[in-house]
Amino acid sequence: MSARKTKTASGTGTRDRSRHHLSVDNDRCRRYGICVAEAPTLFRMSTDGGLRYLRSVPATEIEQAKAAVRSCPMLAIALNERR
Ligand code: SF4
Repeated sequence: MSARKTKTASGTGTRDRSRHHLSVDNDRCRRYGICVAEAPTLFRMSTDGGLRYLRSVPATEIEQAKAAVRSCPMLAIALNERR
């Protein structure tokens, strides 16, 4: 089991200092789970049907994060780089 922090679609902030940050628009997300299939180390469905995800993307998983952004039919996922 991963010890990394996950957040709900409406979560805020983490202590991770990664420069790439994921966010999911909870109003758009329909819990299809395509992002989970594309990036299972970043997204997962909780037992109550909610979407959980890492807000801070490790450098090694940026391509997976980009694939998840591209795959979301609701355009609910944003990946931003902080300066
Ligand atoms: S693919 Fe998009 S709509 Fe589906 S669960 Fe992921 S964020 Fe939500």
